[in-house]
Amino acid sequence: MIKPDRIVSTTCPYCGVGCTLQLHVKDDFIFKVTSPFDSPVNHGNLCVKGRFGYDYVYHPKRVTTPLIRKTPQKAGERTQAFDLSEWREVTWDEALDFVADRLVEIYRRDGSDAMAVYCCAKATNEDNYLLQKMYRALFRTNNIDHCTRLCHAGSVVALQQAVGSSAMSNTASQVTMNDVFIVTGSNTTENHPIISLQMKEAIEKHGAKMIVVDPRRIELVDFAEMWLPLKPGTNVPVFSAMAHVIVKEELVNWDFVNSRTEGFSEFVESLEKFTPEYAEEISGVPADDIRKAARLYANAKNAAIYWGMGISQLSHGTASALALIHLAFLTGHIGRDGTGLNPLRGQNNVQGASDMGAMPFHYPGYMRVDDEANAARWEQVWNIEPGGLSRKLGLTTTEILTHAHEGGIRALYIMGENPMMSEPNLNETRKHMGQLEFLVAQDIFINESGAFADVFLPATPFAEKDGTFSNTDRRVQRVRAAHPPRGLSRPDWQILCDLALRLESRLGLATAKWDYSNPEEILREMAGVNLDYAGITYERIDKLGLIYPVPDLTHPGTPTLFKDTFPRGRGKFHMLDYVPVMEQADDEYPFILTTGRVLEHWHGGTMTRNSSLNEAYPEARVDIHPADAELHGIRNGDPLRVQSRRGEVVLRASVTEKTSVGVVFIPFHFAEAAANLLTNDALDPQAKIPEFKACAVQVFLARESDLANPEAAQERGRY
Ligand code: SF4
Repeated sequence: MIKPDRIVSTTCPYCGVGCTLQLHVKDDFIFKVTSPFDSPVNHGNLCVKGRFGYDYVYHPKRVTTPLIRKTPQKAGERTQAFDLSEWREVTWDEALDFVADRLVEIYRRDGSDAMAVYCCAKATNEDNYLLQKMYRALFRTNNIDHCTRLCHAGSVVALQQAVGSSAMSNTASQVTMNDVFIVTGSNTTENHPIISLQMKEAIEKHGAKMIVVDPRRIELVDFAEMWLPLKPGTNVPVFSAMAHVIVKEELVNWDFVNSRTEGFSEFVESLEKFTPEYAEEISGVPADDIRKAARLYANAKNAAIYWGMGISQLSHGTASALALIHLAFLTGHIGRDGTGLNPLRGQNNVQGASDMGAMPFHYPGYMRVDDEANAARWEQVWNIEPGGLSRKLGLTTTEILTHAHEGGIRALYIMGENPMMSEPNLNETRKHMGQLEFLVAQDIFINESGAFADVFLPATPFAEKDGTFSNTDRRVQRVRAAHPPRGLSRPDWQILCDLALRLESRLGLATAKWDYSNPEEILREMAGVNLDYAGITYERIDKLGLIYPVPDLTHPGTPTLFKDTFPRGRGKFHMLDYVPVMEQADDEYPFILTTGRVLEHWHGGTMTRNSSLNEAYPEARVDIHPADAELHGIRNGDPLRVQSRRGEVVLRASVTEKTSVGVVFIPFHFAEAAANLLTNDALDPQAKIPEFKACAVQVFLARESDLANPEAAQERGRY
């Protein structure tokens, strides 16, 4: 038996659950991952990604030396270079001087509006705080965003409008206190596996009843009291019809509505048309099931709602989330343990990156950039002359790329994200990337986006750095290095500090402070203004983490929000209307495509497809219902060509009742059959989130030779 040199406690780098990992290290190599039974989030449980998905750290394709493209790239002629032979290995000094020279040259010539940055939901709070600080303090721009725009932006905007705060109101583990809970737009078993376990515990051990509202027959349906299989994009009529029933059948919690909310009368008027029969016609969910679900939720002592991308990734994602929020307002199922409004955050640190101000409209702590007092406060902290920070709202991720042209964005810095996999309508994204004048990639592998870059800065993965992640519960937890960085790679925060010093001296600015001796100093600087984090120190979060808000150094944390009031005062009802998804199925494109994740893989695949998990799930598959398959002569495993108005992919059929008739599903992890070649880039007008969850496609039988990798054909592994 191997005896470890040390066991390092850290936090999982994959999903927002934030499980505690114990990395068993021998000779600076992780040989095993376990989790302690007293871990606060996961009680010793781990999914396959946390348990086995760490070997990408040692993958031979990982880049550990700074690189500059051998062939200088130009706007309009930019190409992808995946092969190391197309890059020149350089020193850190050469790489950082090159980046600083080019960024300053473009900034001096074209100004703040030419500069943009993608922060990273996989990086630490400290990394994200520094990168947004660098762009705000040095380039005076708010063109700063990250992948929150592509996942829960609809939920964030809706929650900000309705309650004034966008995080989960309760912790996920409180599901065991629920009598009834709704899971909607979330394949929790594959996307948040440990929360799914807790949901099953709530049902099996504590007698809770679960209502699943989802177009797919996800695994949780096996445990559900009710399944409402709605058509993709019909959330507003279904949840508004539930609200209609609650009002008409006098199930309203009047104490709560009268004392804690506003806008009820106008809202009720707008509900008139949302009868269960109207919702059935649009969504396909039987009216009686809508009535039954409404009664079940409203009559419960404690009820909660958990939701995922199926709510937010729509051109009306904000309205979808508001329709859910209304249910909690009507029934008062918010502000107590075991209740709440809970958008399950996707990436390990998407909550934290948002808290750190990695967004175009907010400084750290969700302080609006167009508010004079907020800007003045950060000018003071960052040693900037009064009026120096930009008050102009910045561009979102999708807008940054569509503005990549002469007179628009000229230089883009990408830390750890992969827009060439995660943006909708990738053929357009490719054109936009090609128009950039200068592109920096800071990452661990040359992925589809990094391959476009002029310079590649090799960062370290989670196992080689210190810092903090904030999980979906708002729990701030430690990340700890298990061993030194491989090769010349460096933690993101150190790369950013070195680069910022170079930029500052070239720009002749007074120092905004970049000489941190450790990441905790960075967090404490941020916590001096973002009071939700004021009481968080590395010592206090050493073992269990702390759930913010933690307003002072003795505060124990706040698992349940909104007990007495909402941050905006009263919860605000909004009048809603039904807006269909932008593309409906028609004769030419008769299927609706919906996209998502699978258990074994993660987002654009930069980590999991370079790990042993790729053997468990080696190829993309398109789920199609048996009735549709029979109609089109499709057998399980057949190669299929799936086409939308924007692009096409070829991948194998998975004939399964997990999807509904007329709906096909493709996971978005596979570059060789990238689902986002097909998806629609129509945006929610408020949240600017694209409509990943519904677009019209056609499906044809293809040839084996059309597959990118016919040899990969295997059944899914045992997990
Ligand atoms: S559930 Fe999420 S946080 Fe936990 S081990 Fe799996 S991927 Fe990691």
